[in-house]
Amino acid sequence: MNRFLLNNLLKKMKSNLLEGKSIGNLKIGALLALGSQLEAVFYYLGHELGLLFDVPKISDLTKIPEELAKIIKKYNLGEIDITGHSQEQISQEHLSVKLRNCLTCKDLLSSKISAEGPFCSFEAGLLAALVEKMSDLQCFAQEEKCSLQTDQSYCEFIIIYQKD
Ligand SMILES: [Zn+2]
Repeated sequence: MNRFLLNNLLKKMKSNLLEGKSIGNLKIGALLALGSQLEAVFYYLGHELGLLFDVPKISDLTKIPEELAKIIKKYNLGEIDITGHSQEQISQEHLSVKLRNCLTCKDLLSSKISAEGPFCSFEAGLLAALVEKMSDLQCFAQEEKCSLQTDQSYCEFIIIYQKD
């Protein structure tokens, strides 16, 4: 799933609708951006699940990584390392996280199965929902590198705050 493309297409659809223009071709583009149906469904499931978790409201975005790590631990979803480049970037634009012992791929890792593209879309949806709930900002998340691709002990995700 290409969340960045999807996001841009959705924004374009919104403005087209407001201007009374057609969104036909944009819908087809969005479908392609969704990519594999299973991946999109897993993202959706993870997102729905994340919305059910008990999370505190956090107005200071720099405190989110810390809290996110606690929640992931509490629900036994693995362990999180925060890898944002600077405190400023974490707070304003996006949040990068490394997730160790990711539920989706940890068992596959030892079996030496490798993945072509992002694999853990369930966790991506879950992380997006958790950060959304904490920050009250709309977010989307994408797995950038899966441990199945890199052979590392963690998967890397990016969570983007959507501010317009
Ligand atoms: Zn992964």
